[in-house]
Amino acid sequence: MTKPSVVKLEDVWVSYHETLALRAVDMQIEDGEFLGLIGPNGSGKTTLIKVILGLVKPDRGKVEVFGMPPDKLGARHHLIGYVPQRSQGDWSFPVSVLDVVLMGRYGRIGLFKRPSPADREIAINALEDVQMQDFARRQLAELSGGQQQRVLIARALATEPKLLLLDEPAAGVDAYGEERFYEMLKNLKEQQGLTIVVVTHDIAVVSAHVEKLACLNQTLYTHAPPAEVITAGTLEKVYGCEVELLAHGRIPHRVVGEHK
Ligand code: ADP
Ligand code: MG
Repeated sequence: MTKPSVVKLEDVWVSYHETLALRAVDMQIEDGEFLGLIGPNGSGKTTLIKVILGLVKPDRGKVEVFGMPPDKLGARHHLIGYVPQRSQGDWSFPVSVLDVVLMGRYGRIGLFKRPSPADREIAINALEDVQMQDFARRQLAELSGGQQQRVLIARALATEPKLLLLDEPAAGVDAYGEERFYEMLKNLKEQQGLTIVVVTHDIAVVSAHVEKLACLNQTLYTHAPPAEVITAGTLEKVYGCEVELLAHGRIPHRVVGEHK
């Protein structure tokens, strides 16, 4: 029996004025899937994530998240947890780690209500999930990039999501940190029954951890287990030569083609 789809896109097109960002995207993400979304700069990855969130409305096509258009999810919108691309936020203003995580509760409690003890407990638990509980009272701006990223994940977890969307969460994290980061995501997925979509540039590292890889370059080239994607030559089609630099020999059976 096939698992139910958490996300279903049918013939989705998006353009910003003259720029075509997504073209005829068909995609289904299964319940419990751990998906890596890769593609070169400007290939529409962030746009696709925003379409799933309901923040960008397609010119054409159908979007369903948990069986409904995302902008119709209403009170169920908290089922989607979102960690935006870091370049999109300014985290230099003074705010404590715990307050950032509590922001994840505002969708549930209303912006002008005070968080209850239960909200605080959920926020603390979310910090424990990413091993940042000891930093609750610290200022976010004082933390390293990798630590800030974990706090933003805790904020997303505090909404109690079933689907977690992470837009280039490992950018700026070193390779060792990245390995541990994916281990952490895998544990969260298993413990909380999450479906996870992680946008990344690092094909080699992500391939070793996710169950499926999707290659995007305006349209979706493939969506399959990493080993299949890599042998199918899809990466070359999407990335051209770039992939040779990104594959550090950790992908099994990969034959490096000649540079043209
Ligand atoms: P990626 O995340 O893969 O780098 P994006 O989804 O951010 O790609 O962008 C896809 C394309 O859409 C790019 O050509 C980008 O310049 C363009 N684009 C993205 N956001 C906007 C916007 N708000 N206004 C105009 N063009 C945009
Ligand atoms: Mg992006």
